[in-house]
Amino acid sequence: APSDADCDVVVIGAGPGGYTAAFRAADLGLKVVLVERYETLGGVCLNVGCIPSKALLHVGHIMDTAAAFKDHGIVFAKPKIELDKLRGWKDKVIGKLTGGLASMAKQRKVETVFGNAEFTGSHSLDVKGKDGTRSIKFKHAIIAAGSRPVVPPGMDLDDPRVMDSTGALKLEEIPKRLLVVGGGIIGLEMATVYEALGSKITVVELMDRIMVGADKDLVRPYEKRIRARYENVFLNTKVTGMEAQKKGIKVTFEGKDAPESDTFDRVLLSVGRRPNGDLLNLEASGVPSDRGFIQVDEHMQTAVPHIYAIGDIVGQPMLAHKATHEGKVAAECIAGEKSAFDARVIPSVAYTDPEVAWVGLTEEQAKEQGIKVEKGVFPWAASGRALAMGREEGMTKLLFDEETGRLLGGAALGPNAGDLMGEIALAIEMGAEASDIGLTVHPHPTLIETVAMAAEAAEGTITDLY
Ligand code: FAD
Repeated sequence: APSDADCDVVVIGAGPGGYTAAFRAADLGLKVVLVERYETLGGVCLNVGCIPSKALLHVGHIMDTAAAFKDHGIVFAKPKIELDKLRGWKDKVIGKLTGGLASMAKQRKVETVFGNAEFTGSHSLDVKGKDGTRSIKFKHAIIAAGSRPVVPPGMDLDDPRVMDSTGALKLEEIPKRLLVVGGGIIGLEMATVYEALGSKITVVELMDRIMVGADKDLVRPYEKRIRARYENVFLNTKVTGMEAQKKGIKVTFEGKDAPESDTFDRVLLSVGRRPNGDLLNLEASGVPSDRGFIQVDEHMQTAVPHIYAIGDIVGQPMLAHKATHEGKVAAECIAGEKSAFDARVIPSVAYTDPEVAWVGLTEEQAKEQGIKVEKGVFPWAASGRALAMGREEGMTKLLFDEETGRLLGGAALGPNAGDLMGEIALAIEMGAEASDIGLTVHPHPTLIETVAMAAEAAEGTITDLY
């Protein structure tokens, strides 16, 4: 390490991975510089990802829930949407969080440098910012530069009506008809928002299913609900072309259900994200990358021992809660602590309506891997709380290893299903069996008690409706 280094650790990128790593490193007594190319801290998640999407999903949920109660004796007037105010509220939520991060950095004496970082050597980098270039020499680096949306060739129109998730979250207008290209979590969440605000939605997906990776038993009722509400859901369908016209974006399709072409007011591209490894001049650092992804070991260490990498840039799943945990590990290893990323499971949640959430093994994966499982399913139609919410399409499902009795995976469908994943993940990490969960007294009436009921169902001790 250079004896005249400016810092112990430079962290590149101030997303959930980067700011967590920077704060943890500072708390462990290291001198830290945090570099970010955008004007605020927080990365994709806080500025154009998790948080703004959840703020808008909350609004959509309230509108839908209110409208649904017309059958149960509460009739609201048709909502009036003041888009400027709504946008302002969402931006205020973001501002509180990113502003909070800035003061947390200050408290910890983490120096923030704004500008684009590029390596100039294995112990040095340049940050090009508004006020010129600043060179930083470091003992250690943590690369937390994240990812960006993939724009497929032929769909990179220079037209604001063709949006990525960042564009969709700007909420410039509510299109009459919106085409969502890609039926993954991000696309379906944005579809949920725009549908609640009044857009007619068409979803087009190349594969034979939406929400790849989720348990099929959960996707089925979700798909049924959106098929009833959306204009179209085209599976096994390819977008073959896109053309900007005055009256809209003309899109051509190839697939047996889809028309040859159709014209939409706006198009959202949500076909995946790619890592930002190509933006860092990695060659100068000696850190190898594979199509922008950086390979790391369980200490988050790259092939260059004093350089670490965390978050979206090290691979799937691209989720904020994975990035933060990895950030802590990298900081602790640099500080000389014995730390490793050793999670058995990482939960996934689609905050759609209803939410679809899963953690650990799915039934399909168990089958593929030849693992025999004992299944416990609790339908929310038997949950007092779900009925009291006017929502009974949900379910909670747990899978136990037939041999050891231990919990291997769990999933839930329904409003707030994501909130159930914490307990299930904990139970998997602790090696819990069905009786551990079933014998734990859960509060009644809550949705989380459906986890206990599913465990009882697996054990055969379940008694009745709840
Ligand atoms: P990022 O958050 O991508 O941050 C990287 C930062 O590095 C960026 O601020 C970038 O500007 C900066 N940077 C890049 N290159 C340089 C450079 N050369 N110099 C300086 N700075 C640089 N995840 C969830 O867990 N839950 C959700 O509900 C969720 N919802 C999402 C919704 C949407 C619409 C999107 C797009 C994503 C969502 N995600 C969600 C994913 C989540 O946002 C990411 O997994 C998370 O932000 C990754 O964190 P990170 O620290 O790896 O990188």
